Amino acid sequence: MEDVRIRRVVQTEDLSNVEFETSEDVEVIATFDNMGLREELLRGIYAYGFEKPSAIQQRAIKPIVKGRDVIAQAQSGTGKTATFSIAILQSLDTTVRESQVLCLSPTRELAVQIQKVILALGDFMSVQCHACIGGTNLGEDIRKLDYGQHVVSGTPGRVFDMIRRRVLRTRSIKMLVLDEADEMLNKGFKEQIYDVYRYLPPATQVVLISATLPHEILEMTSKFMTDPIRILVKRDELTLEGIKQFFVAVEREEWKFDTLCDLYDTLTITQAVIFCNTKRKVDWLTEKMREANFTVSSMHGDMPQKERDAIMKEFRSGQSRVLITTDVWARGIDVQQVSLVINYDLPNNRELYIHRIGRSGRFGRKGVAINFVKSDDIRILRDIEQYYSTQIDEMPMNVADLI
Ligand code: ADP
Repeated sequence: MEDVRIRRVVQTEDLSNVEFETSEDVEVIATFDNMGLREELLRGIYAYGFEKPSAIQQRAIKPIVKGRDVIAQAQSGTGKTATFSIAILQSLDTTVRESQVLCLSPTRELAVQIQKVILALGDFMSVQCHACIGGTNLGEDIRKLDYGQHVVSGTPGRVFDMIRRRVLRTRSIKMLVLDEADEMLNKGFKEQIYDVYRYLPPATQVVLISATLPHEILEMTSKFMTDPIRILVKRDELTLEGIKQFFVAVEREEWKFDTLCDLYDTLTITQAVIFCNTKRKVDWLTEKMREANFTVSSMHGDMPQKERDAIMKEFRSGQSRVLITTDVWARGIDVQQVSLVINYDLPNNRELYIHRIGRSGRFGRKGVAINFVKSDDIRILRDIEQYYSTQIDEMPMNVADLI
């Protein structure tokens, strides 16, 4: 569990004064002490290193604890995971070992990360929290769930499988959290989410969380949410001040590789994540970088889970500094030392852009995002720039100084 506990003292931007567009007057609670949280949980929060709640934490923890359906949106890295983790922990009855909260995420790595945050914040609460994810041993899953888990953090496929086998009993579930909610309600996952939802008690509280919540997704929430409290950031505030965004005009695909090699020293100043749009491209680029004697790690969804786990461990511990990956890494993953994101390929949609660049600049730290753009990509870049009312300049020579 050490990986999520590593705390480094760095200068961060104050994240407590962000503008929100909310559906009604939401109370703003400026300290954890005033949130009415149980003593053991407060102890866990402070022991974890948090002193002051971020803007989203000041607004969203209380309504979730009160049992309201909540839609919460805030920028990447501003403490959304901790928001719902704290609210979940406050809502539990740990005297009974029944599953009370189900939290679903789009990737296995994210589900595990959430489990670890819940266990760490709940360190003084004797909480049982299980990561129920694909690619792991079924028998082990069954054994853990049989033992009884207060919280299950998982990916939809394995969770549904466990529910259908009646290993994961849903009768005491009172809260469903969808992290990266827009992705979870997108085509790829929607059916699976509804499959799970149908097994939950009718009064289950629903909490949706994401940095991006496009209009079409917000519209469909009325189908399964009751009078939700909405805490939403304005679109033009989604990109964080602390993350400087640049582009390099590479003109042609072939020139991206040399550009990346030229940037290698910059990549290794702290840690960097390089995004490609396909698994094949990740494999190809990794191979090519290694042939050129650069040290890189890589990860994508076709690798066996054991290998994915090993790579995550290596990267989280700082043993590897450059990770080449797909959008499996775009959402939610929190490695505080990542200060540079490279879009080797521009992402396929506007939301992914926000999630990818948000892997850097965690909790107000400095970050840099560099986009490789071919001549015919410039249009897409300008669209992103306009949509988020942000500025993406040509990369300066001294980019390393900004990291
Ligand atoms: P998000 O889910 O919004 O992307 P996370 O919950 O992963 O953001 O938080 C980003 C980082 O900030 C994490 O490393 C987390 O431990 C840290 N963090 C969250 N809340 C606080 C806080 N109140 N004080 C200090 N650090 C925090």
